[in-house]
Amino acid sequence: MKTAAEIFHQHIAQTTPFAIGLEIERAEGSWLFGPNGEKYLDLISGVGVSNLGHGHPKIKAAIHEQVELHLHTMVYGEFIQSAPNRLASRLNSILPSSLNCSYFVNSGAESIEGALKLAKRYTGRSEIISFRGAYHGSTHGALSVSGNETKKRAFRPLLPDVRFIRFNEPEDLAQISNKTAAVIVETIQGDAGVRIPDYDYMQALRARCTELGVLLILDEIQSGIGRCGTWFAFEQFDIVPDILCTAKALGGGLPIGAFISDQKIMQCLTEKPMLGHITTFGGNPLACASAEACLAVIEEENLLEEVEPKGALIESLLADESKILEIRRRGMYFAIDLASADQVMDLAGRLLKRGLITFWFLSCPHSFRIAPPLNISEEDLRYACKLIKEELAKIA
Ligand code: PLP
Repeated sequence: MKTAAEIFHQHIAQTTPFAIGLEIERAEGSWLFGPNGEKYLDLISGVGVSNLGHGHPKIKAAIHEQVELHLHTMVYGEFIQSAPNRLASRLNSILPSSLNCSYFVNSGAESIEGALKLAKRYTGRSEIISFRGAYHGSTHGALSVSGNETKKRAFRPLLPDVRFIRFNEPEDLAQISNKTAAVIVETIQGDAGVRIPDYDYMQALRARCTELGVLLILDEIQSGIGRCGTWFAFEQFDIVPDILCTAKALGGGLPIGAFISDQKIMQCLTEKPMLGHITTFGGNPLACASAEACLAVIEEENLLEEVEPKGALIESLLADESKILEIRRRGMYFAIDLASADQVMDLAGRLLKRGLITFWFLSCPHSFRIAPPLNISEEDLRYACKLIKEELAKIA
């Protein structure tokens, strides 16, 4: 009889020789539990997914209710079903009026694929402008507009007509032209190490796109759903994208994504050709029911108001650590710079042994990542920071 670890390593496709390999039996609130009584405090929310922690009773109830009603009944876009309708209405109620039409998909990368296609179809142009350091996902289109060359090289040729400019560099905005279909950008660059652009830069980017009829696609797959203290980070820059991509935390723990736009733009997927973008599982009723409950809980529990004070608390607790070179954060979206990638791996390993889950960034190896559940208790946060300080003191 094979052990759980043997099955995992032999029969589940591996993406890294260094998988964390933690065995998880159940999870509740901000805590994960192993099969032999191990306990781990989740400071990473499954990489930006579990913004309400694990097993929130209202999300579980919504899922149970939907299971009793129905699961998949038809491919995307044919039948009227209550769960996707409720989710679309709730998104409509929290978003600016021009973001009134949601196309539901199954993941972040898929929402990027849909957004790129929509922009090309709507503008009749082919050029996409993206940013150095960007991460938008691992499918062909999403990889094409991502910046990390070492992850792309082996998969070329990728999408043609993609141009990369520097993030937060006003000078490079001149490269956006009337040949450009879309500019795609993470409102806050995540994988590059939580890079926060200037307010004026985002204003200028929006103005340049508007001036040239270029669609602005904002990727809020990680920065959205309250992570930065507002529903979406773009609200803090007083801009509105033409297309918004969301996923990860949207589903409350179930897989779902969406690209969202004005119905006037979205309707060009309906004709020339008809079925311009299709998916079997997009808008899956179970995922939609969970996502709708997740948004409802954030609203009912006024969670957005807790994000900035909790983020500030973490920052203040870690501020006097000499081994921390810089803390970048918006709300509870954190990158913490140490002197080297080795220090980051050493620290993450030590913290895991103490029962604290943190993580790293693919394109910013000297930073470690924390993104706790938004509803984590102050007591757990203080405990986590105490462990981080104790283990930081031990690393070379
Ligand atoms: N965009 C951003 C900013 C992300 O952080 C991610 C995933 O980490 C994606 C897109 C891709 O999402 P998914 O892994 O659901 O395809």
